[in-house]
Amino acid sequence: MSETTLRGLEARAPRRVEFGRDALVVCDNLVRIYQTGTGPGAVEVQALQGLDLLVDAGEMVAVVGASGSGKSTLLAVLSGIDAPTAGRVRVGPWDLAAMTAAERVAYRRSMVGFVWQQTARNLVPYLTAAQNVTLPLNLAGHPRRRRRTRATELLDLVGVGHCAARRPREMSGGEQQRVAIAVALANAPRLLLADEPTGELDTATSQEVFDALRTVNRTLATTVVVVTHDAAVSGQVERTVAIRDGRTSSEVLRRTEHDGEGGSAVVAEEYAVMDRAGRVQVPREYREALELTRRVRLALESEQVTIRPDRDRSGERS
Ligand code: ADP
Repeated sequence: MSETTLRGLEARAPRRVEFGRDALVVCDNLVRIYQTGTGPGAVEVQALQGLDLLVDAGEMVAVVGASGSGKSTLLAVLSGIDAPTAGRVRVGPWDLAAMTAAERVAYRRSMVGFVWQQTARNLVPYLTAAQNVTLPLNLAGHPRRRRRTRATELLDLVGVGHCAARRPREMSGGEQQRVAIAVALANAPRLLLADEPTGELDTATSQEVFDALRTVNRTLATTVVVVTHDAAVSGQVERTVAIRDGRTSSEVLRRTEHDGEGGSAVVAEEYAVMDRAGRVQVPREYREALELTRRVRLALESEQVTIRPDRDRSGERS
């Protein structure tokens, strides 16, 4: 075949665009299976069952879901602590499924910051807030003056500049978590991951921590993924992704609508998530309301796809 013909064919062939090519975080059909026990009593737990998730650079996304739905497993994979059993996971240029141990260390030092639920786990107890923030900078070999300025800037940004000289036990839980955010940001990561950062805090204090995460997201343009079991956080972020049984099942998008007369209202809309094979989870309330069971009728209409119960068949059976 001549080269011109070949080129002509190439131009006509549909181009395979990589799933989430422009996203900062790409989880593509992510699977994580845990084995517990050995021998005949061994049990496999599928913590992630083909999860798809895209997060754009600069977004702040909340991941919600019941206990055991796979949220922590997802964060462990994204933070480079754990590796997926199957599927593709990329953060920026890093392919997390194929990293060597040395690359894993480099990834964790340069690309991601992490805030844990347990306030005590985030900070070194015998160091002051400022020293906790400069610690990762010491490791990275930054000059002393630069380290001090950076610590002050970050503590001020998250509203705990007044805690710079205090040790963790001299701070409230909310202050400790905000210092933890400053520590996680010390190395200027592009992605900040937080696993239930307000799990041990009351509502008012949780609000301060969420405000700090939002400030970081808006001011530094750091991408933030925050995991919580509290569905009420949907009111705090523009995008909430719900995980059910190790898969993304629905998303709530929040936006502000202006009425043209100076008034505005926040509108939150829930969307079902369709995976790459075209599967959509129909919420249980919908299934029960119309007795949708194993087989349903799908119809393509000009503007929508409808799902109807298979009534003819159920009539036949009775
Ligand atoms: P969540 O954070 O939403 O509570 P997890 O990601 O912690 O959920 O857990 C998802 C599922 O995987 C659960 O059924 C849990 O019991 C299981 N699981 C998590 N970690 C392990 C592990 N290290 N070994 C075995 N099973 C695990």
